[in-house]
Amino acid sequence: MNSSIPCTITSITKITTLTLSTILVIFLLIGCNYNDEPAGNHQHEHLKDKHKTEDYHKKEVLYSLPGLKHGLLQSPINILSDQSEKGKHNVTFHFKDKINKVDNLGHTVQLDFEPGSTVQIDNKIFEFKQIHFHTPAEHLIDGITYPMEMHVVNTLVGQTESEKETTEYTVFSFLFKMGRENRFIDEFIRLIPGTKDESKGVLTGTVHLRDLIDYDPQKVLNSYFYYKGSLTTPPYTESVNWFVMKTIIDASPGQIQQINKIEGDNARRIQAQYGRPVSYK
Ligand SMILES: [Zn+2]
Repeated sequence: MNSSIPCTITSITKITTLTLSTILVIFLLIGCNYNDEPAGNHQHEHLKDKHKTEDYHKKEVLYSLPGLKHGLLQSPINILSDQSEKGKHNVTFHFKDKINKVDNLGHTVQLDFEPGSTVQIDNKIFEFKQIHFHTPAEHLIDGITYPMEMHVVNTLVGQTESEKETTEYTVFSFLFKMGRENRFIDEFIRLIPGTKDESKGVLTGTVHLRDLIDYDPQKVLNSYFYYKGSLTTPPYTESVNWFVMKTIIDASPGQIQQINKIEGDNARRIQAQYGRPVSYK
């Protein structure tokens, strides 16, 4: 019965506190705005603030997208399968599958191709350059992060990787889940140099990329998501044709952990898509 009295007291106290706070804020505001400057200077200050805000936004853009002129085509992205549209590219491989070097680059494990393997995408020819790994995966599919991603990097014929700011790339991306031991990884894992920035020559014919997939590789290569993006490491060049394979490849937990132990967690964060279309085949 009497419970309403303390409640009312509380309400009054609340209202009083609120009113006092409001008065205090008004005083503070008046105090802040008060100065001896003529009215014209207020406007000047206001404009200065406006410029400050604009500068801030400019810095924000430069901060999140270093070294880029436009910067709306960054990678990786979270691929939403139900928002991708059917599309098709003519992809023809002239692949010799010759790997001649394994590198411990510290930030990644890399394998190098002997020159001479190419892939034609529509009317452009790209040359196979290198394969490297990210742990965990960089691209997400429908919000799922996989434990590892492998990038097969190809550059447009006639351009070199040293012209990183302008080179056009095609990257085939393979996502891994923990499962069976992967034959391809098994062929080179013991050859990875133990020291950072060291390379080890590989006898050609001993490490085969085709061993990545136990079943028909054509099926895997014919089923992908495609979008235009960037390199995921500096200088984040925005001229990459990304083919993210839909088939998730198996590798054993031990293999994934061993690669992660060398390169650490080297996945770039998901980038905004900015309305970029993603197609699938
Ligand atoms: Zn990569």
